[in-house]
Amino acid sequence: MKESIAEPGILVNLRSIPGLDQIEPGDAQWVLGAGVTVAQIEDHAGLRRAFPGLHEAAAEVASRQIRNVATLGGNLAQHSRCWYYRHRDIYCLKKGGDTCHAREGENKFHSIFSGNPCISPMVSSLAVILTALDATVVVQREGETVTLTMTDLYQRAWDNPTLHHSLDRSDLILRVEVPTRWSRSAYLQVAEKAAFDWATVSCAAAVRVADGRIQEGRVVLGSVAPVPYQVAAANRLLQGQTWSDALGGSVAERLLRDATPFAHNGHKVPIARALIQRALRHVS
Ligand SMILES: Cc1cc2nc3c(=O)[nH]c(=O)nc-3n(C[C@H](O)[C@H](O)[C@H](O)COP(=O)(O)OP(=O)(O)OC[C@H]3O[C@@H](n4cnc5c(N)ncnc54)[C@H](O)[C@@H]3O)c2cc1C
Ligand code: SF4
Repeated sequence: MKESIAEPGILVNLRSIPGLDQIEPGDAQWVLGAGVTVAQIEDHAGLRRAFPGLHEAAAEVASRQIRNVATLGGNLAQHSRCWYYRHRDIYCLKKGGDTCHAREGENKFHSIFSGNPCISPMVSSLAVILTALDATVVVQREGETVTLTMTDLYQRAWDNPTLHHSLDRSDLILRVEVPTRWSRSAYLQVAEKAAFDWATVSCAAAVRVADGRIQEGRVVLGSVAPVPYQVAAANRLLQGQTWSDALGGSVAERLLRDATPFAHNGHKVPIARALIQRALRHVS
């Protein structure tokens, strides 16, 4: 709205809906209301013990002033940061035009994976770690309550250049449910500025460890694709393994195999490779 891209006739204040601002711990899962602020997630001591990666991701979002007001629902549903999209006089593919200006233009912050001609990446830090934690999102849709996986929540943006996520216009995120089965989790990012900035590349990892071996693991990248990016075959490489740098290298190689960088964002590939190694070493 500040940049004159959206001019809605009616604004709905979600803050006035009761019950959306609670964090509810549980044995099998934690429930986070869509109106919980990023600062609430950052500050919750029990949540930090249960999901260290979620705490780390929240602490990286923007600045403390923004985290004090930014909500979980708004963070997950945030729109593209592409500078062409955010220029009010540029009518690119995502706004219904016929050209992606970033492909041949300034694309240092853009995707290295995409299923459609728009290369604007998904930049929500919370989405990256919540995908690694296999969280589900409960959405109110036309009077019904539907549950989406984090993959579902963004899948439509993989194919469709005009979308930022899979929510319909009248959908309302009510809450996010985070399963507790993970032994450890971590979130790391590299950004141009240490604070007040979106990630150039982010990486989240979550593992379930038993008898000294990884039983199950997830590695997810952010700011590299229109969705939180993971590859099932890369996750499968972790099953039954103990940590080694060689294992981290194999996971990174598989996860990054299909990367197609553009003229100004080739640096994302080695940054992602390093973050995958570091995040996995941290949780393993
Ligand atoms: C300088 C700066 C740096 C930032 N850095 C980061 C960063 O590093 N990482 C990161 O993840 N984010 C970052 N952000 C984004 C920031 O976290 C988001 O702007 C914020 O999370 C939006 O939250 P909000 O509650 O204000 O949502 P709003 O701005 O009010 O809403 C955003 C969108 O979500 C929709 N929406 C809101 N709530 C719901 C709901 N419950 N259900 C369905 N749709 C909903 C709104 O309609 C709107 O389309 C940064 C922002 C700024 C300004
Ligand atoms: S990357 Fe997407 S949002 Fe950016 S100019 Fe291209 S079509 Fe528009």
